[in-house]
Amino acid sequence: MTLDAAWAVDWTRRSAASVAEHRDELVELDRQIGDGDHGENLSRGFRAVVAKLDALDPPPATVGDVLRIVATTLMSTVGGAAGPLYGTAYLRASKSGTATELGPDGVVALLEAALDGIVTRGKATVGEKTMVDAWTAAVAAAVDAADHGAPPSQVLAAAARGAQEGARSTVPLVATKGRASYLGERSAGHLDPGARSSELILAAAAEAAA
Ligand code: ADP
Ligand code: MG
Ligand code: MG
Repeated sequence: MTLDAAWAVDWTRRSAASVAEHRDELVELDRQIGDGDHGENLSRGFRAVVAKLDALDPPPATVGDVLRIVATTLMSTVGGAAGPLYGTAYLRASKSGTATELGPDGVVALLEAALDGIVTRGKATVGEKTMVDAWTAAVAAAVDAADHGAPPSQVLAAAARGAQEGARSTVPLVATKGRASYLGERSAGHLDPGARSSELILAAAAEAAA
């Protein structure tokens, strides 16, 4: 699979399907350490994104075009902390992914730009029990795979595995950013909902490339 606009559309559709499938799980995770809206907000947002993509004629020509639509639609429909964070991530990624086809370095640049957007927006660092933990581990794994000569699909597969590990690593952590930080020590022992949804989104990226 070449990583072109069709891949980016497939990634987005798979993200929407996965977030919808895991909606209740994300709601429950956010109920445990937040306000319980993450699953509903994100699935509503991705539904709107898919509707927007379906209505586009002609279809978007580049990866960057697709990701910009995801960014603007998530920003205007998701709300809460996750809307602006994911919106900024996709907007930054859209500016990196303007080539018609991504190679291994293009994938790394896209993921780094997304992480950069999340960090710029939310000011969290690794270990604060947020989606940053998933994205940081994903970027590190992607960089390592690209350095070892992996093709783009394998760079994304590595990123997805990294995101899974990064998300799992949030379980024992005490949250120091976002709504979960209000719980202090009681936030420990729970998977961060934003890290979990990030894991789902990056798994979808790898599946679309496989
Ligand atoms: P809200 O807390 O406003 O209801 P959501 O429930 O949609 O927003 O999203 C919560 C998720 O957002 C958290 O699980 C965490 O991963 C992420 N998050 C919150 N604050 C930050 C931040 N400052 N930086 C990075 N991620 C954050
Ligand atoms: Mg919430
Ligand atoms: Mg909320």
